[in-house]
Amino acid sequence: VTAAVLSGMELAAQLRESVSARIAALPVGAPRPVLAVVTATTDEASTWYVRSIASAAAKAGVICTVIDLGQDATPDVISATLSDLSAAQTVSGIIAATPLPGDGKLADYGHLIDPAKDVDGANPLSLGRLAAGLRAFAPATAEAVVRLLEYYQVDLAGRHAVIVGRSTVVGKPAVHLLLDRNATVTVCHSRTRYLPAITRTADVLVAAAGCSGLLTADHIRPGAVIIDVGTNSSPDGGIVGDVDPLAAEVAGAISPVPGGVGPVTTALLLQHVLTAATVSARPLPL
Ligand code: NAD
Repeated sequence: VTAAVLSGMELAAQLRESVSARIAALPVGAPRPVLAVVTATTDEASTWYVRSIASAAAKAGVICTVIDLGQDATPDVISATLSDLSAAQTVSGIIAATPLPGDGKLADYGHLIDPAKDVDGANPLSLGRLAAGLRAFAPATAEAVVRLLEYYQVDLAGRHAVIVGRSTVVGKPAVHLLLDRNATVTVCHSRTRYLPAITRTADVLVAAAGCSGLLTADHIRPGAVIIDVGTNSSPDGGIVGDVDPLAAEVAGAISPVPGGVGPVTTALLLQHVLTAATVSARPLPL
């Protein structure tokens, strides 16, 4: 038996089309949605990601400004840039690409992004509001996980969802999004003992560890639905997920890498920018 493939391409195309149709329908003279992407790295994967956001934005009619501060940017410069963009009337949404210089973490800067412009949920206020069941922008990748499950009508209520990975950008926000949909949620991480025993109890398994081949057929309950968030470089220069390809013989359905969560993430970012630009009557999100 081979698992059904939960491609993200169709859903991503639908989301992009809806964004571009709504932008095309904006009244003449109305401000266009503007996404500011702050980057300070030459990391290849990050550079590729920023380019793909800029290109998807251009196609959808979202103006995307990439602010490249260079890999030697100091924390002060990064902070000042994010604060200025948060204050700028003309900017609808802001994201900071990772990695950041030195040992800088996104969590060190997220609070500088106005929550109303925090289209990738980097401000701790956004995560807190999400946890409290209030309106907030969720990190686009975590939201892509649940949107993909919903698109394929995977029943979540009362089902056991196991997330492997507890990062602030994927694992933790995914907990709240899955709980909101009435799943019973377990989170595993690098210190979890007996990982296969836990993941084998999952009806829905979200792999977000960033380790290629971490989850093998032995980790998967027959028929389980798997969303593979991992994007790991493979020796042939491509990207692979966290789930071993042989696991597809056990799973009921699995999202591919590439072509699963990734394109949905980018499309959701654009949708968030449009929301940030057009829902100017607060409260949104604060
Ligand atoms: P991270 O390194 O911040 O977090 C990884 C998490 O996995 C940690 O919580 C860690 O405890 C856990 N983990 C690591 N090794 C483990 C192991 N052997 N067993 C169990 N748990 C383990 O990474 P992240 O930013 O959350 O990203 C996770 C993956 O998702 C990466 O491959 C990343 O490239 C990918 N990602 C994809 C998208 C997308 O749009 N497709 C977006 C963001 C991240």
